[in-house]
Amino acid sequence: MVRESYDQWKVPNGQFNKAMTFYVKCDCGDLAKLTVYSGPFECPSCHKKYVQQYGK
Ligand SMILES: [Zn+2]
Repeated sequence: MVRESYDQWKVPNGQFNKAMTFYVKCDCGDLAKLTVYSGPFECPSCHKKYVQQYGK
């Protein structure tokens, strides 16, 4: 399953948007933000952390 990802303008990444990922969709429904360059992503609501995984 591919986690939804978004660029710095919170535009969903996908077939027509290959921008760098700044946000990923958290399980709680909020957006986890990239904390430092290359991650991890941290959700401001539940503080869950995500590591960016390519090809998933
Ligand atoms: Zn969350």
